[in-house]
Amino acid sequence: MTEQSPGATVPDGPGTHPVPTNAEWFERARRVIPGGVDSPVRSFAAVGGTPYTVARGEGPYVWDVEGRRYIDMVQSYGALLLGHAHPAVTAALTRAAGRGTTYGAPTPGEVLLAEAICGRVAGCEQVRLVSSGTEAAMSALRVARGFTGRDRVVKFDGCYHGHSDTLLAGGGSGVATLGLPGSAGVPASAVADTMVVPYNVVPEVDRHVACVIVEPAAANMGVVAPAPGFLEGLRQACDDAGALLVFDEVITGFRVGRGGMSERSGVTPDLWCFGKVMGGGLPVGAFGGRRDVLSVLAPEGPVYQAGTLAGNPLATAAGLAVLETISLADYDTLCQRAGRLAQGLDAAISGAGIPVQVPVVGPLVGLFFGAEVVTDYASARAAAAGGHYAHFFSAMLERGVALAPGPYEAMFPGLAHLDAHLDEVVAAAADAAAHMVHSGSFVV
Ligand SMILES: *Cc1c(COP(=O)(O)O)cnc(C)c1O
Repeated sequence: MTEQSPGATVPDGPGTHPVPTNAEWFERARRVIPGGVDSPVRSFAAVGGTPYTVARGEGPYVWDVEGRRYIDMVQSYGALLLGHAHPAVTAALTRAAGRGTTYGAPTPGEVLLAEAICGRVAGCEQVRLVSSGTEAAMSALRVARGFTGRDRVVKFDGCYHGHSDTLLAGGGSGVATLGLPGSAGVPASAVADTMVVPYNVVPEVDRHVACVIVEPAAANMGVVAPAPGFLEGLRQACDDAGALLVFDEVITGFRVGRGGMSERSGVTPDLWCFGKVMGGGLPVGAFGGRRDVLSVLAPEGPVYQAGTLAGNPLATAAGLAVLETISLADYDTLCQRAGRLAQGLDAAISGAGIPVQVPVVGPLVGLFFGAEVVTDYASARAAAAGGHYAHFFSAMLERGVALAPGPYEAMFPGLAHLDAHLDEVVAAAADAAAHMVHSGSFVV
């Protein structure tokens, strides 16, 4: 028996009638999914209103179930680099799906993706594939602890490394957006060995520390660039203490350049965490690094780590399609376009009389309201406390531009965003900023 209810059919996109509304979908979602979302960052708790429910995406655009089109700057929080439904990715997925979706045995695809990763990231000799960035960071930590025989972990306030118990302390992204100090349900014992220190200051690293884990460019407290000497200082402090340096490049990997932040900064960590871009929009992650460090992993060593769907044939096919499609020249193009976007946003918003900062790291673009330069989580929080982001977000959404519904996320222009699309984003921002001033939601 089929229960008929509003929204039983999902429209393909614009022009399909009658359509269930975003509100109807969200109401149904809330009945069967806590908060109506499968990841808290998707909620509109921080900005107000009802989330748009996506029916489909293509290139830089998404369409909601009501047929409204948005220029999408979220791009699955950075999982997409080529835009939605890129033909190279969908073709690779179709071919792979026809051969079966998972086997529980080694496949050529996982070898090819691992080779593609190690071939791009200098110093990364081996990787193991997992199914999310959370798993990548969690497993990298276990390897670091197993390799060094030490327990303590140093992380930076406002850096996000997924939602594992040990690493959620001082997490950015949704933890920051929802104003949570960490998370209920995490026992004190789980974080007893996690030290949280301010970003952009080289901490003291002693001989109890297994590893220092860092987003080499922070993108989960808004976008915060590493200060000159910060990453080099971490490398030195780790070397002096015999601790491992872990770069969490889940966002920056294969996005800020072919070799990620380690290539850009010239600082080579002992371990890397990857995810997002390298999965082409499928659930994926990877951790890798020095061969001697990774040799502690089972079956060769005593550190256990596993996954039924790890190295999944669909995920490896999609990831490989992305890495093989993007060229070195594409990265230059992407960085140029992002730089232009940032300049345009700065001029558009400050031109309306609203103080703003638009930090850029390669193709990552941030947005902080206020005049104070943001260098760490404390200053990011101070900028967000003004509450202007929510007004800007809503005004942009009304003008057909989808930003992340929280002040601590980056914008993710990708290769599908041409200058013309980004000019539309800038024009919308100028209009939105003028609206904020005229409506009194921003007092100059
Ligand atoms: C997104 C992200 C993660 C977590 O990845 P999931 O796939 O969401 O588990 C970890 N680290 C960083 C830097 C991220 O941006």
